[in-house]
Amino acid sequence: LITKQSQEELLKVFSDRKYTDSKGVVKDVSLIVISLSPQPILSLAARYKLPPEHATNKLAGYFKSLGADLVLDMTIAEDLSLLEAQQEFVQRYQDQQADPNGKYLPMLASSCPGWVCYAEKTHGNFILPYISTTKSPQQIMGSLVKQYLSRTKELTPGEVYHVTVMPCYDKKLEASREEFYNDLLSCHDVDCVITAIELEQMLDNSNMSLNDAESSSLDSPWGEGAVRRHRGSGSGGGADHVFLYGAEQLFGETDAQLVYRNLRNPDFKEVTLERDGKEVLRFAIANGFRNIQNLVQKLKRGKSPYHYVEVMACPSGCLNGGAQVRVGGGQARAAGGEAGRELVLRLETLYSQLPLATPVENKFLRKLYTDWLDGKDSDKAKAVLHTTYRAVEKSDIALNIKW
Ligand code: SF4
Repeated sequence: LITKQSQEELLKVFSDRKYTDSKGVVKDVSLIVISLSPQPILSLAARYKLPPEHATNKLAGYFKSLGADLVLDMTIAEDLSLLEAQQEFVQRYQDQQADPNGKYLPMLASSCPGWVCYAEKTHGNFILPYISTTKSPQQIMGSLVKQYLSRTKELTPGEVYHVTVMPCYDKKLEASREEFYNDLLSCHDVDCVITAIELEQMLDNSNMSLNDAESSSLDSPWGEGAVRRHRGSGSGGGADHVFLYGAEQLFGETDAQLVYRNLRNPDFKEVTLERDGKEVLRFAIANGFRNIQNLVQKLKRGKSPYHYVEVMACPSGCLNGGAQVRVGGGQARAAGGEAGRELVLRLETLYSQLPLATPVENKFLRKLYTDWLDGKDSDKAKAVLHTTYRAVEKSDIALNIKW
């Protein structure tokens, strides 16, 4: 029996060009697409002592040698997610002004499934209205690949097998959510998530190092293919973008300063904007469950002062994800400890070496909004780029995944 979303399943799809979908239907595969997110690339770059760009090209070559047809970076999905999240924030801010008793703010970022699952299970309906409806980059990439890319290749979405490379096992949980099964297309947007640790194991099992793989450039169906960084840290959130956009759109402030103050610990920090001596925006970044619990308790007591909080379950965010390779320290999770912090610092340095993405200057995004999504703020853009949440019992989300 092969576990869903495992390396064994992935290797079998490469060899058989068939897969069994989440409804048990066997499908032929015409196109295997791999989408690489930055954090596991950096983890593997550190592990194999390669500059990020070389590690990316080696990974692309490795996947191609296994049988992948396209290897893509996820910049475009990250850009789309940021643009939608910043627009959602401005709308929520205005709605809250118009309806002070409404539950629009704080907007709580939703790109971390570890946090979202915890919120759904533990805080039920109370917390759900605050959670951003904007899909995570992984799931936007899923919609792009299954809906847009498959159409340009004249394939049905089910003929495309889509794999993402991610920093944690929680992303498997996200990929398999019912919300991300498209009834019209009869498929999930992401079929398999593989982590940095699993990739290291796959290489080990073949007695090879990433250095041994042939290099290949990334494919580029939407502009130049390159793994890029976004403003702020590599922790995986979008607080900086949303803050600057909100400052400009809501208060005409084009030169807002992003100076974070550490609060209780380095994993809980905040930044504010003042106008005429009055605080008009207060954003926080809360990483790790200790800080999340604190935040939720404040919210429940009506004492949260924030308009937006980037919430990430791992201490230090995605660079320290639970399935990142622990360089030199085995694979024991060192989250929050000294080894974890050292790893994050090393990966932050590598992250800063990536070329910067500027979502508003991405010409292909405009094309996507026009050609695919019927324009910004259209019903289709909302349906494709946003999602919903539900209060669930623990048993409802038990999954056939090895942890
Ligand atoms: Fe995964 Fe951790 Fe990032 Fe959340 S913060 S998405 S659990 S790596």
